[in-house]
Amino acid sequence: MLILNGKDVAKEVRATLVPRVASFKEKNGRAPHLSVVIVGEDSASQVYVKNKKLACEAVGMTSTIHALPVQVSQQELNEKIRKLNSDPLVDGILVQFPLPKHLCAEEVLKLISESKDADGLTYMSMGHLLAGNPLVNPCTPAGVMTILRHYGLSVEGLKVVVVGRSNIVGKPMALMLNAANATVTICHSKTVNLSSYTRAADLVVVAAGKARMLGKEDFKQGAIIIDVGIHRDGPNGKLCGDVRFEELQGWAKAATPVPGGVGPMTIATLLQNTCWLAEQKAGLHKT
Ligand code: NDP
Repeated sequence: MLILNGKDVAKEVRATLVPRVASFKEKNGRAPHLSVVIVGEDSASQVYVKNKKLACEAVGMTSTIHALPVQVSQQELNEKIRKLNSDPLVDGILVQFPLPKHLCAEEVLKLISESKDADGLTYMSMGHLLAGNPLVNPCTPAGVMTILRHYGLSVEGLKVVVVGRSNIVGKPMALMLNAANATVTICHSKTVNLSSYTRAADLVVVAAGKARMLGKEDFKQGAIIIDVGIHRDGPNGKLCGDVRFEELQGWAKAATPVPGGVGPMTIATLLQNTCWLAEQKAGLHKT
């Protein structure tokens, strides 16, 4: 079985960004800049945000973390986003989800300017993706497409099943696979007899958010399995995915491990998106 090593692919993506960032800096007197907004004290979110900052620094980009208190009002959060939208030194904006329950993520996604949408999740970016004319793509599914391309795994003509239909993973993933000429079925929690779909697929992307939910018996021999899930499993908190990876050896054609599969690509794509937005704003992409 070919192990699709997202850590290696992410390293390559970052290496391509270093000269792009340096060239941007030379032309514009500053590096591309990402602003990350985080609300509250959620420990997982704090770790993700810190990792994003470190990743920016590693390729020469700059970032600012805007930490807002858990009790911040929607109006205050919206005001922060409006300020970042109009700040000429900010190229990309990312609001770390999930937000505390009293805040509305939809309102935030409608407010972030499409020209600064580093995460590719705003309604405008999603609309462009749906229309087949994407600007920036959502980071996790775009990272999956980069992994497939890197390993020369074309999806054209393949029967593909995406398990999960969230706005951040499942739906955009299905659109991108469709745009790459796969024949795509989306499954979800109300799908009856899920494994009858996954067993018929040449490629399965699993993004259900259920630890170790699918195993060898749910896939066709020779299938490609992409596991988007991330969970801390068991008392010692080992990371695992939605798939029982250890069962795939000798069965699947190729699969992503957890950790070291899709996860590293999400951040690498965020950096790519931010760099592209900065270049776009500076007129470095001719349309
Ligand atoms: P959501 O909880 O938003 O969506 C989960 C989706 O899976 C829903 O569409 C749900 O269906 C479906 N689902 C849930 N249970 C089942 C089931 N038993 N059978 C079939 N479908 C099911 O999760 P996300 O999309 O945000 O994330 C999915 C996973 O990916 C999580 O583990 C998350 O941590 C991980 N993740 C990893 C990232 C990375 O960088 N690697 C980035 C983002 C997420 P329904 O719509 O009917 O409720």
